[in-house]
Amino acid sequence: MPEGPEIRRAADRLAAAVAGQTVLRAQFAFAQLQRFERELVGSRILSITPRGKALLTAFDNGWTLYTHNQLYGVWKVARPGQRPDTTRSLRVALETASAAILLYSASDIELWRSDEIEAHPFLQGLGPDVLDPALNADADAVAARLQSLAFRGRALGALLLDQGFLAGMGNYLRAEVLFDTGLHPALRPRDLDAAQTAKLARALLAIPRHSYTTRGIEPTPGMRADYLAHEGERFRFRVFKREGQPCERCGTPITRIASQSRPLFLCPHCQPGRPSQ
Ligand SMILES: [Zn+2]
Repeated sequence: MPEGPEIRRAADRLAAAVAGQTVLRAQFAFAQLQRFERELVGSRILSITPRGKALLTAFDNGWTLYTHNQLYGVWKVARPGQRPDTTRSLRVALETASAAILLYSASDIELWRSDEIEAHPFLQGLGPDVLDPALNADADAVAARLQSLAFRGRALGALLLDQGFLAGMGNYLRAEVLFDTGLHPALRPRDLDAAQTAKLARALLAIPRHSYTTRGIEPTPGMRADYLAHEGERFRFRVFKREGQPCERCGTPITRIASQSRPLFLCPHCQPGRPSQ
Protein backbone atom coordinates (compact mmCIF):
# COMPACT_ATOMS: atom_id res chain seq x y z
CA MET A 1 0.00 0.00 0.00
CA PRO A 2 1.67 3.23 -1.07
CA GLU A 3 1.92 5.98 1.52
CA GLY A 4 1.82 9.75 1.17
CA PRO A 5 5.33 10.23 -0.25
CA GLU A 6 4.90 7.52 -2.90
CA ILE A 7 1.46 8.80 -3.86
CA ARG A 8 2.73 12.35 -4.20
CA ARG A 9 5.64 11.26 -6.36
CA ALA A 10 3.24 9.30 -8.59
CA ALA A 11 1.06 12.42 -8.88
CA ASP A 12 4.15 14.46 -9.74
CA ARG A 13 4.96 12.09 -12.60
CA LEU A 14 1.45 12.40 -14.02
CA ALA A 15 1.48 16.17 -13.65
CA ALA A 16 4.88 16.43 -15.34
CA ALA A 17 3.44 14.52 -18.30
CA VAL A 18 0.20 16.47 -18.85
CA ALA A 19 -0.42 19.39 -16.49
CA GLY A 20 -0.94 22.68 -18.26
CA GLN A 21 -1.83 20.87 -21.49
CA THR A 22 -5.09 20.61 -23.42
CA VAL A 23 -7.03 17.36 -23.44
CA LEU A 24 -7.31 16.06 -27.01
CA ARG A 25 -8.96 12.77 -26.15
CA ALA A 26 -10.72 11.44 -23.08
CA GLN A 27 -11.91 7.91 -22.52
CA PHE A 28 -13.92 6.42 -19.65
CA ALA A 29 -14.79 2.75 -19.30
CA PHE A 30 -17.84 3.27 -17.11
CA ALA A 31 -21.05 4.16 -18.96
CA GLN A 32 -22.12 6.83 -16.47
CA LEU A 33 -18.91 8.77 -17.14
CA GLN A 34 -18.88 8.52 -20.91
CA ARG A 35 -20.56 11.88 -21.44
CA PHE A 36 -17.33 13.40 -20.13
CA GLU A 37 -15.44 12.01 -23.09
CA ARG A 38 -16.75 15.04 -25.01
CA GLU A 39 -17.03 17.42 -22.07
CA LEU A 40 -13.31 17.29 -21.26
CA VAL A 41 -11.94 17.58 -24.78
CA GLY A 42 -10.52 21.06 -25.27
CA SER A 43 -10.16 21.71 -21.55
CA ARG A 44 -6.79 22.27 -19.97
CA ILE A 45 -5.48 20.11 -17.13
CA LEU A 46 -4.75 22.55 -14.32
CA SER A 47 -3.30 20.26 -11.66
CA ILE A 48 -3.01 16.70 -10.40
CA THR A 49 -2.99 16.65 -6.62
CA PRO A 50 -3.05 13.81 -4.10
CA ARG A 51 -5.44 14.06 -1.17
CA GLY A 52 -4.71 11.21 1.18
CA LYS A 53 -4.80 8.20 -1.12
CA ALA A 54 -7.12 9.87 -3.62
CA LEU A 55 -6.04 11.89 -6.64
CA LEU A 56 -7.73 15.05 -7.89
CA THR A 57 -7.26 16.06 -11.51
CA ALA A 58 -8.63 19.56 -12.07
CA PHE A 59 -9.67 20.88 -15.49
CA ASP A 60 -10.12 24.53 -16.45
CA ASN A 61 -13.75 23.98 -17.47
CA GLY A 62 -14.87 23.58 -13.87
CA TRP A 63 -14.69 19.80 -13.54
CA THR A 64 -12.47 17.73 -11.26
CA LEU A 65 -11.78 14.04 -11.73
CA TYR A 66 -11.73 12.18 -8.41
CA THR A 67 -9.99 8.79 -8.43
CA HIS A 68 -9.03 6.43 -5.63
CA ASN A 69 -6.84 3.46 -6.47
CA GLN A 70 -7.90 1.36 -3.47
CA LEU A 71 -5.72 -1.76 -3.61
CA TYR A 72 -5.80 -2.40 -7.33
CA GLY A 73 -5.66 0.80 -9.33
CA VAL A 74 -2.52 1.97 -11.07
CA TRP A 75 -1.75 5.02 -13.18
CA LYS A 76 0.62 4.78 -16.11
CA VAL A 77 2.08 7.35 -18.50
CA ALA A 78 2.37 6.55 -22.21
CA ARG A 79 2.79 8.31 -25.52
CA PRO A 80 -0.40 9.60 -27.12
CA GLY A 81 -2.32 6.77 -28.76
CA GLN A 82 -0.10 4.13 -27.23
CA ARG A 83 -1.12 1.62 -24.56
CA PRO A 84 1.23 -0.37 -22.33
CA ASP A 85 1.20 -4.12 -22.74
CA THR A 86 -0.97 -5.16 -19.82
CA THR A 87 -3.87 -7.43 -19.05
CA ARG A 88 -5.38 -4.85 -16.69
CA SER A 89 -8.58 -3.10 -17.71
CA LEU A 90 -8.25 0.49 -18.77
CA ARG A 91 -10.67 2.71 -16.85
CA VAL A 92 -9.60 6.27 -17.72
CA ALA A 93 -7.42 7.69 -20.49
CA LEU A 94 -6.59 11.38 -20.86
CA GLU A 95 -4.47 12.33 -23.82
CA THR A 96 -2.73 15.55 -24.72
CA ALA A 97 -0.44 16.32 -27.66
CA SER A 98 2.57 14.96 -25.79
CA ALA A 99 1.37 12.21 -23.44
CA ALA A 100 -1.42 9.96 -22.27
CA ILE A 101 -2.15 9.26 -18.62
CA LEU A 102 -3.95 5.97 -18.09
CA LEU A 103 -5.73 4.61 -15.06
CA TYR A 104 -6.05 0.83 -14.88
CA SER A 105 -8.16 -1.43 -12.67
CA ALA A 106 -9.51 1.26 -10.33
CA SER A 107 -13.27 1.42 -9.81
CA ASP A 108 -13.57 4.51 -7.61
CA ILE A 109 -13.82 7.16 -10.34
CA GLU A 110 -16.08 10.21 -10.26
CA LEU A 111 -16.35 13.65 -11.81
CA TRP A 112 -17.33 16.52 -9.55
CA ARG A 113 -17.77 20.23 -10.06
CA SER A 114 -14.50 21.73 -8.85
CA ASP A 115 -16.28 24.16 -6.53
CA GLU A 116 -18.08 21.25 -4.83
CA ILE A 117 -15.28 18.69 -4.58
CA GLU A 118 -14.45 19.52 -0.96
CA ALA A 119 -17.89 18.12 -0.04
CA HIS A 120 -16.81 14.68 -1.26
CA PRO A 121 -17.32 12.24 1.66
CA PHE A 122 -13.81 10.82 1.36
CA LEU A 123 -12.20 14.27 1.46
CA GLN A 124 -14.46 15.31 4.32
CA GLY A 125 -13.08 12.45 6.40
CA LEU A 126 -9.42 13.34 5.82
CA GLY A 127 -7.23 15.19 8.27
CA PRO A 128 -4.58 17.66 7.10
CA ASP A 129 -2.08 16.15 4.68
CA VAL A 130 1.41 15.63 6.14
CA LEU A 131 2.91 16.72 2.82
CA ASP A 132 0.79 19.83 2.44
CA PRO A 133 3.34 22.66 2.15
CA ALA A 134 1.14 24.92 4.30
CA LEU A 135 1.08 22.39 7.11
CA ASN A 136 4.81 21.82 6.90
CA ALA A 137 5.44 25.25 8.29
CA ASP A 138 3.12 24.64 11.21
CA ALA A 139 4.27 21.98 13.69
CA ASP A 140 2.34 23.85 16.39
CA ALA A 141 -0.92 23.03 14.61
CA VAL A 142 0.02 19.33 14.57
CA ALA A 143 0.94 19.45 18.27
CA ALA A 144 -2.44 21.05 19.04
CA ARG A 145 -4.17 18.39 16.96
CA LEU A 146 -2.35 15.63 18.89
CA GLN A 147 -3.56 17.07 22.19
CA SER A 148 -7.12 17.82 21.02
CA LEU A 149 -9.99 15.95 22.67
CA ALA A 150 -10.66 13.87 19.58
CA PHE A 151 -7.17 12.39 19.46
CA ARG A 152 -5.34 12.72 22.79
CA GLY A 153 -6.71 9.51 24.28
CA ARG A 154 -5.89 7.25 21.34
CA ALA A 155 -2.84 5.00 21.15
CA LEU A 156 -0.19 6.33 18.79
CA GLY A 157 -0.03 3.01 16.93
CA ALA A 158 -3.63 3.52 15.81
CA LEU A 159 -3.56 7.30 15.51
CA LEU A 160 -0.59 7.35 13.16
CA LEU A 161 -2.45 5.19 10.63
CA ASP A 162 -5.72 7.14 10.88
CA GLN A 163 -6.15 9.28 7.74
CA GLY A 164 -8.66 11.34 9.69
CA PHE A 165 -5.86 12.42 12.01
CA LEU A 166 -3.22 13.14 9.38
CA ALA A 167 -3.66 12.14 5.76
CA GLY A 168 -0.68 10.64 3.97
CA MET A 169 0.68 8.70 6.94
CA GLY A 170 1.07 4.94 6.57
CA ASN A 171 2.72 1.88 7.97
CA TYR A 172 6.41 2.53 7.31
CA LEU A 173 6.06 6.20 8.25
CA ARG A 174 4.39 5.20 11.53
CA ALA A 175 7.30 2.94 12.50
CA GLU A 176 9.95 5.50 11.55
CA VAL A 177 8.24 8.41 13.32
CA LEU A 178 7.81 6.43 16.55
CA PHE A 179 11.42 5.27 16.48
CA ASP A 180 12.71 8.75 15.73
CA THR A 181 10.84 10.16 18.70
CA GLY A 182 11.53 7.22 21.05
CA LEU A 183 7.85 6.52 21.63
CA HIS A 184 6.09 3.20 22.11
CA PRO A 185 2.93 2.71 20.01
CA ALA A 186 0.82 2.05 23.12
CA LEU A 187 1.45 5.58 24.39
CA ARG A 188 -1.30 8.15 23.86
CA PRO A 189 -0.79 11.86 23.26
CA ARG A 190 -2.14 12.45 26.77
CA ASP A 191 0.82 10.46 28.16
CA LEU A 192 3.30 12.87 26.53
CA ASP A 193 4.72 16.05 28.00
CA ALA A 194 4.96 19.26 25.98
CA ALA A 195 8.48 18.55 24.75
CA GLN A 196 7.58 15.04 23.59
CA THR A 197 4.45 16.35 21.88
CA ALA A 198 6.43 19.03 20.06
CA LYS A 199 9.08 16.53 18.99
CA LEU A 200 6.44 14.12 17.69
CA ALA A 201 4.68 16.91 15.80
CA ARG A 202 7.93 17.91 14.10
CA ALA A 203 8.71 14.29 13.17
CA LEU A 204 5.20 13.80 11.73
CA LEU A 205 5.99 16.55 9.24
CA ALA A 206 9.73 16.07 8.70
CA ILE A 207 9.87 12.31 8.11
CA PRO A 208 7.22 12.05 5.35
CA ARG A 209 8.75 15.14 3.72
CA HIS A 210 12.24 13.63 3.89
CA SER A 211 10.95 10.43 2.29
CA TYR A 212 9.15 12.39 -0.42
CA THR A 213 12.08 14.64 -1.28
CA THR A 214 14.82 12.00 -1.24
CA ARG A 215 12.93 9.18 -2.92
CA GLY A 216 12.65 6.74 -0.07
CA ILE A 217 12.34 3.20 -1.24
CA GLU A 218 10.47 0.33 0.28
CA PRO A 219 12.61 -2.74 0.95
CA THR A 220 11.55 -5.85 -0.90
CA PRO A 221 12.49 -9.48 -0.23
CA GLY A 222 16.01 -10.16 -1.44
CA MET A 223 17.02 -6.51 -1.60
CA ARG A 224 20.69 -6.17 -0.71
CA ALA A 225 21.36 -4.95 2.82
CA ASP A 226 23.79 -2.32 1.56
CA TYR A 227 21.02 -0.86 -0.57
CA LEU A 228 19.31 0.08 2.67
CA ALA A 229 22.48 1.41 4.28
CA HIS A 230 23.11 5.01 5.15
CA GLU A 231 23.64 7.29 2.16
CA GLY A 232 24.24 10.79 3.44
CA GLU A 233 20.98 12.60 3.87
CA ARG A 234 18.84 10.18 1.90
CA PHE A 235 15.80 8.75 3.58
CA ARG A 236 16.36 5.24 4.81
CA PHE A 237 14.54 2.79 7.01
CA ARG A 238 15.93 2.70 10.52
CA VAL A 239 13.47 0.14 11.92
CA PHE A 240 10.95 -0.74 9.20
CA LYS A 241 11.39 -4.40 8.16
CA ARG A 242 14.64 -4.55 10.12
CA GLU A 243 13.67 -7.00 12.85
CA GLY A 244 16.67 -8.77 14.35
CA GLN A 245 19.10 -6.10 13.18
CA PRO A 246 20.80 -3.94 15.82
CA CYS A 247 19.24 -0.59 16.69
CA GLU A 248 21.51 2.15 15.36
CA ARG A 249 21.29 3.96 18.70
CA CYS A 250 21.75 1.22 21.30
CA GLY A 251 22.45 -2.05 19.49
CA THR A 252 19.37 -3.83 20.85
CA PRO A 253 17.79 -6.03 18.14
CA ILE A 254 14.80 -4.38 16.45
CA THR A 255 11.59 -6.30 17.14
CA ARG A 256 8.42 -6.72 15.14
CA ILE A 257 5.01 -6.53 16.79
CA ALA A 258 1.45 -6.31 15.45
CA SER A 259 -0.40 -3.03 15.85
CA GLN A 260 -3.77 -2.41 14.20
CA SER A 261 -3.29 -5.74 12.39
CA ARG A 262 -0.22 -4.32 10.65
CA PRO A 263 3.42 -5.13 11.42
CA LEU A 264 5.19 -2.49 13.44
CA PHE A 265 8.93 -2.41 14.02
CA LEU A 266 10.54 -0.87 17.09
CA CYS A 267 13.52 -0.85 19.42
CA PRO A 268 12.36 -2.20 22.80
CA HIS A 269 15.10 -0.25 24.58
CA CYS A 270 14.71 3.15 22.86
CA GLN A 271 10.91 2.94 22.75
CA PRO A 272 9.91 1.75 26.23
CA GLY A 273 6.29 0.89 26.89
CA ARG A 274 3.65 2.91 28.61
CA PRO A 275 4.70 4.26 32.02
CA SER A 276 2.65 2.87 34.92
CA GLN A 277 0.70 5.97 35.81
ZN1 LIG B 1 17.59 1.28 20.56
